[in-house]
Amino acid sequence: MQQKITLLGATGSIGRSTLAVAALHPDKYRIHALAGGSRVAPLVEAAVQFRPKHVAVADESRYRELRDALDAAGLKDTEAHAGQAAVTELARDPECDAVLQAIVGAAGVAPTFAAARAGKRLMLANKESVVCGGGLLMRTVAECGATLLPVDSEHSAVFQSLAAATPAQRREARIILTASGGPFRGWKDLSGITPEMAVKHPKWNMGRKISCDSASLMNKGLEVIEAAWLFDFPESRIDVLVHPESIIHSMVEYADGAVMAELGSPDMKTPIAIAMAWPERITTGVKPLRLAECGKLTFEEADTETFPLLALARETLREGGAASLVMNAANEVAVETFLDHRISFTGLFAAVAEMTRGFTAPAPASLEEILALDAEARERTRALLASRAF
Ligand code: NDP
Ligand code: MG
Repeated sequence: MQQKITLLGATGSIGRSTLAVAALHPDKYRIHALAGGSRVAPLVEAAVQFRPKHVAVADESRYRELRDALDAAGLKDTEAHAGQAAVTELARDPECDAVLQAIVGAAGVAPTFAAARAGKRLMLANKESVVCGGGLLMRTVAECGATLLPVDSEHSAVFQSLAAATPAQRREARIILTASGGPFRGWKDLSGITPEMAVKHPKWNMGRKISCDSASLMNKGLEVIEAAWLFDFPESRIDVLVHPESIIHSMVEYADGAVMAELGSPDMKTPIAIAMAWPERITTGVKPLRLAECGKLTFEEADTETFPLLALARETLREGGAASLVMNAANEVAVETFLDHRISFTGLFAAVAEMTRGFTAPAPASLEEILALDAEARERTRALLASRAF
């Protein structure tokens, strides 16, 4: 039987890799719906190839452009939708079995909850929705019978490394998240870093926001929080290890000293395929790992003095409440502002830390509260960034 997939964030880096995997297995996967943010041309290009029933663009003003482009491409029967609510609606469409959630940022929170509430197989790349949704998301997944499968490569590795563990064994295990260290690994002076330098990642080819987060190590901070929620591990049992070759995608250390890891070529098609096929395995066309060609794998501690956002993310986990959510919102606004050349890279660190420590709120108890807090934290961050030079 074919799995009917709704792909959110279809035009992004993860979205394109997902379509590449789906194209290899037309017998197993049918793309039921495609959704993007604002760019119509690549969305329609994907629609021509995969013939989904629905295509949606989050930017409401693009409906006419989308409808016309679909018509011009001969896709008159494809249903066009526009607006954030339409994207969320597709995530709960009873006709789809699975949702691959690859929207960037907290814009993904409502669709993630919609898919969870509808009991879908939820293949989650959008780590920001785990960071914002926290325990409420995990409870929703459990109560609504959804299946949450991580797409983030580290979490996919941990998921596989924990697969055979009993609950008691998990309680004594440690997670070791690997980190590439980003383009500025080893640097001590981060002044003068431009957006162009920050989005050029040495190992992974990713969207601009996550590339910038990798450069600041905020990505690893978000991943520590993501791991804590996904696997129900306390912050104190999640380590970070810099491994520049990005061959070991993460590990789990058990009480007896055994360490389980997943290794592979750094290509997101592997964790995407794992989420799509689990518990089966499918081919991906990913370059096979030849360790003799790698020669050496190296490891070092993360430099949280030069890259303080990793430590800040841990602090938010220990603090609880809405701290991680506030940090995520501040980071999204600050990253946008940095990529727009309006603040410095170190100014970004300072603004995110100041916002996170200066605005505390209890953990949100509903999706509506999450969205309201996220909006408020963004508003306050914009005001902070406008108040003085960062
Ligand atoms: P990209 O920037 O490449 O793609 C983002 C996608 O989201 C695009 O399709 C974009 O549409 C869409 N989008 C943006 N805003 C909205 C919105 N409001 N509603 C609906 N869709 C929207 O990002 P990535 O693919 O790199 O990352 C996506 C997510 O996956 C992020 O959360 C990231 O952290 C996570 N991730 C990514 C990895 C990677 O290797 N890239 C690895 C692990 C996790 P449009 O093109 O129209 O702007
Ligand atoms: Mg990752």
